[in-house]
Amino acid sequence: MVDCDRCERHFPHSRAFEQHKKDSDCHNECEDCNKDFTSPHGLKEHLVQSPRHSYCQYCKEHFDDDDELQAHFEDDHAYCRDCRRVFTDTNGLDQHYRQSEEHNYCAKCRKDFSTPRGLNEHLTQSSRHSYCQYCEEDFDDDDELSKHTDDEHAYCHKCERTFIDEDALAQHFRDSETHNYN
Ligand SMILES: [Zn+2]
Ligand SMILES: [Zn+2]
Ligand SMILES: [Zn+2]
Ligand SMILES: [Zn+2]
Ligand SMILES: [Zn+2]
Ligand SMILES: [Zn+2]
Ligand SMILES: [Zn+2]
Repeated sequence: MVDCDRCERHFPHSRAFEQHKKDSDCHNECEDCNKDFTSPHGLKEHLVQSPRHSYCQYCKEHFDDDDELQAHFEDDHAYCRDCRRVFTDTNGLDQHYRQSEEHNYCAKCRKDFSTPRGLNEHLTQSSRHSYCQYCEEDFDDDDELSKHTDDEHAYCHKCERTFIDEDALAQHFRDSETHNYN
């Protein structure tokens, strides 16, 4: 006789007991680890968290190692490599990029930069953007931006540089080698 303590049932031989464990929802075995979980959820948590497993909970599929799992995430799911997080679709990932402090993301170009500086340079230099770095605002086109610059800021036409206000521009005239104010 074999007893199943968990289910308080008895089996005539171990084969019947093994069959019971396969059939019952109370038994969720990880054969690799020789562990038996009381719920499918417990087993899932184990498969996802244990370093012994490279398991995709979305596809319910096992992979040989974490590299293969990561490659699978990147190919078949919306995956953030930096945060090691998987999202249900690219919209979820896109939202994560926008919201997370970890990222410096240009939503328009769908590009992620490693530093805030990198993003700032991209926004100021890319022809896809009409970006005011003082207001941290992206305008529809360069006309909108120059209108904004004229209204709010000061522009040096000789150097093609924008300054935050007239004072900064005046300071620039005094400091710059390009302008000889003597
Ligand atoms: Zn049982
Ligand atoms: Zn296991
Ligand atoms: Zn998957
Ligand atoms: Zn991330
Ligand atoms: Zn961009
Ligand atoms: Zn501005
Ligand atoms: Zn100048």
